[in-house]
Amino acid sequence: MSAAKKTKDTLQAPKGMRDFIGDNFYTKQGFYEKAQEIAEYYGFSGIELPILEHEDIFIKGVGDNTDIVEKEMYSLKTKGGDKLVMRPEGTAAIMRSYIEHGMGSLPQPVFLYYGGPFFRHERPQKGRYRQLYQFGLEIIGSEKAVLDAITIQTGYQILKETGQDITIKINTLGDSEVRKEYLKKLKAFYRKNSKRIAKKDLERLSTNPMRVLDSKEPDTILVNENAPTLISTLNDISKKHFKSVLEYLDAAHIPYEIDNTLVRGLDYYAHTVFEYVTYDKDGNSSLALGGGGRYDGLAKVMGHTKDVPAVGLGLGVDRIMDIAKEGSFNPKIRKKPKFFFIQIGYEAKGKAFNIIEILRKKKYPIKHSLSKNNLGKQLGIAESLGIPYALIFGKKEAIDSTVIVRNMKTRKQKTIPIEELADYIKTLK
Ligand code: AMP
Repeated sequence: MSAAKKTKDTLQAPKGMRDFIGDNFYTKQGFYEKAQEIAEYYGFSGIELPILEHEDIFIKGVGDNTDIVEKEMYSLKTKGGDKLVMRPEGTAAIMRSYIEHGMGSLPQPVFLYYGGPFFRHERPQKGRYRQLYQFGLEIIGSEKAVLDAITIQTGYQILKETGQDITIKINTLGDSEVRKEYLKKLKAFYRKNSKRIAKKDLERLSTNPMRVLDSKEPDTILVNENAPTLISTLNDISKKHFKSVLEYLDAAHIPYEIDNTLVRGLDYYAHTVFEYVTYDKDGNSSLALGGGGRYDGLAKVMGHTKDVPAVGLGLGVDRIMDIAKEGSFNPKIRKKPKFFFIQIGYEAKGKAFNIIEILRKKKYPIKHSLSKNNLGKQLGIAESLGIPYALIFGKKEAIDSTVIVRNMKTRKQKTIPIEELADYIKTLK
């Protein structure tokens, strides 16, 4: 590779990873603020975990024949010889933390929320990043159906903040007994049709037959039309759980569609699975904005001695930002500035910080361009930003300890002693 080409490549963010600049930065932060606020109202508390985890957490916790683990993990070997991965998802790591910190001895269930970057080595395309951002909820330690409904409702209320119509697709995978029984049926069915399904899918049969149902291969799609359905295998416990979740959603007027094709990629789900989507005007559904489900079997799969029933979801922040109506997510720290601070000359510059500090302490948002010197230029910037008042601080004002407050619209102005500034600006509209 030529030196010039090499430099050009390294001066770009890695493929599928991006910078958050300007409005994008604030929208993401605004989303997390809103999501946390709603989650707190529904009884969740925040938790933050490391970006790196032991590889086994995900091999066991997500499943070693899923796409995420098989193809998409960023793995590394540390200098000490540990095999770590950049977390591809949150649930297995949260369960690790729950077990490690003995959260099972707290009053159950434990409600947790988390957020931040996750890493999947996918083929980048619209709405699919290699460093993606999620906001997640987990309720650990109870098998009650009402908790599935609370999870779905909390995610739904967060997504509604985008200003878009959100639809929930929901399905049940039944409990572990149902899954076992269903897998048996499914394997027998595919064995009978082995000559008619795509070669690629044949290989999956022994590792994860349910993924053959998701196949995009034309031959397999044809065969799948007659595949046995999981719904026909449901036992009474599973039917009762699903019915109960739907009743809670009905009572809360949460719109949903039952979608029996929804299985979701990860191995650890049981009972409820769901996804959030929007529809365009032609009735086409968007990429999933988030999804989740119940994962009663996860703790044991990860090596814990006890079953720990749990339910959770992950929302895709990148995709949510894409569909959010303008102004949906404004972080609290970003306020419309009321004052533009103008300083002219050496004496004024020296004392400028004191005035900014008076305004900050009173929580008045302020903009300035301290690197400029010219009054006309600075007034021009204030005007172009549509800021209602300018504070003008020149040599004379610096010596007299005053400041000129100018109404940018009426151009009326008044000179105020600095120590009275905080009280005076309170009287301004
Ligand atoms: P998952 O952890 O796979 O259940 O994903 C939860 C949500 O995260 C999805 O519904 C998407 O909205 C989002 N998501 C998953 N993978 C990506 C990705 N590569 N880029 C952007 N968003 C993603």
